[in-house]
Amino acid sequence: MPAKRITKTPMRTRDAKLRATDFVEVNIGYKAEHAIFEAERCLRCQQPPCTDGCPVHIPIPELLHEVAAGNMEKAVDILRTANPLPAVCGRVCPQEEQCENNCHMAKQYLPVGIGYLERFIADWERSQPKKKKPKPPQRPQKVAVIGAGPAGLVCAGDLARLGYPVTVFEGLHAPGGVLRYGIPEFRLPKDILDWEIELLKDMGVEIVCNVIVGKTFKLDDLFDKMGFSAVFIGTGAGLPSFLGIPGENLNGVYSANEFLTRINLMQSYDFPNTDTPLYVGERVAVIGAGNTAMDSVRSALRMGSKEGMIVYRRTEKEMTARQEEYEHAIEEGIQFRWLTNPIEIIGDEDGWVTGLKCLKMELGEPDASGRARPIAIKGSEFIIPVENVILSIGTSPNPLLVNTTPGLETNNKGCLVLEANKPQTSRKRVYAGGDAVTGAATVILAAGAGKDAATSIHADLMADLAEK
Ligand code: FAD
Ligand code: SF4
Repeated sequence: MPAKRITKTPMRTRDAKLRATDFVEVNIGYKAEHAIFEAERCLRCQQPPCTDGCPVHIPIPELLHEVAAGNMEKAVDILRTANPLPAVCGRVCPQEEQCENNCHMAKQYLPVGIGYLERFIADWERSQPKKKKPKPPQRPQKVAVIGAGPAGLVCAGDLARLGYPVTVFEGLHAPGGVLRYGIPEFRLPKDILDWEIELLKDMGVEIVCNVIVGKTFKLDDLFDKMGFSAVFIGTGAGLPSFLGIPGENLNGVYSANEFLTRINLMQSYDFPNTDTPLYVGERVAVIGAGNTAMDSVRSALRMGSKEGMIVYRRTEKEMTARQEEYEHAIEEGIQFRWLTNPIEIIGDEDGWVTGLKCLKMELGEPDASGRARPIAIKGSEFIIPVENVILSIGTSPNPLLVNTTPGLETNNKGCLVLEANKPQTSRKRVYAGGDAVTGAATVILAAGAGKDAATSIHADLMADLAEK
């Protein structure tokens, strides 16, 4: 096999020292010649396992065939039909665990760079004049979507494509969910998110912000007072968890969600041009080792902290952050304190954080999650001097909607329970998907759930019409 087929065409990135001081995107993207060269590596498998590994089932070999032939417009059509958020997913999806993990090339060589190519195609589309597509004839039943994260947006997009008038109600002042308030600009520039959302609006999706369903009005009002025939819940899992250790209420302690929301949604990096200040000290410890933790520690560095560190009670092997984010964090000088468990946040007499008291750990037998159980080493207490502690140890669904909607069943983690064979909740014509159902997961799983729900809503509403 020729050498060019063995390695994946690398992604160009900005210099690590420079990028660690600003919020400009780290990855630069492929040029057309890189994309064509990389797409040529695809073997065009008859039974493509890459497509099976993609939660929205993008027909990857057909897509890469068009890229390799330089037919970018055809590639855009194929991609956008399968995934309404390709510029987002090409940037943040864990392809290494999904399509690329299944790629036949990966058996012997590096997989085809499917994610980088997805990003390239979406960015190519953005560089072209926008094309207006004719809207399908409008159907009589209208659908409401609660939450403008990837699950809600994708569900709304697919329903609009089928001709349903669809309105998305979003609690925050801007749509996007975690894509807006969680994932930082240096991984996902907001003008790219805005572009994908504009395309959904062009398809007819209406987005109404500053509406918290359960507070502004009840879910049942959507049926009883506002005339919707079906409702999709895509409210995510945005409620942060805390450790319950002493010192969590000191000044300088943040949940990762609050910290990132202040930076991303409220743009505190541009203070005083924006209204949201954010106190970031010289040394910042982030507790946890998922994508959110990695985003928090890298954001802290960009906000002016001199030392950013991840504190995690297990090891590099058990961390859940994407490999690319981890590698970028290392390049930017982030420190990693593995096998370290925080037991107290220390403060001064004025209530400001001065340190994090920790215990050294060792790994034992696997626990219920299947990961090695961390065990404390007796007498190993020590203090890491820091001015900020950011907690990134998980989130769960906010109970507001469930508490204000009779008959919505949840499990012991507060996640909505669906019927066995369709994405409908315990309430008729109320569907759900994304993190609100699975707990904190991934963008593409949320997008896939939004698509499945749109298909199910369409089938049920057609049946309702036929019955009339
Ligand atoms: P969300 O994105 O949470 O959106 C839910 C929306 O519903 C929010 O906008 C919320 O304001 C709104 N809402 C909630 N309640 C109401 C209500 N009552 N009324 C109206 N609106 C309401 N995944 C990846 O695949 N790759 C990554 O690199 C990655 N990085 C991440 C980094 C961070 C910092 C975080 C927090 C998560 C990350 N994830 C990543 C996970 C991914 O973002 C989520 O799994 C995904 O966004 C879930 O989509 P969703 O639509 O279910 O929910
Ligand atoms: Fe191409 Fe890999 Fe998919 Fe086969 S598995 S079609 S080589 S991307």
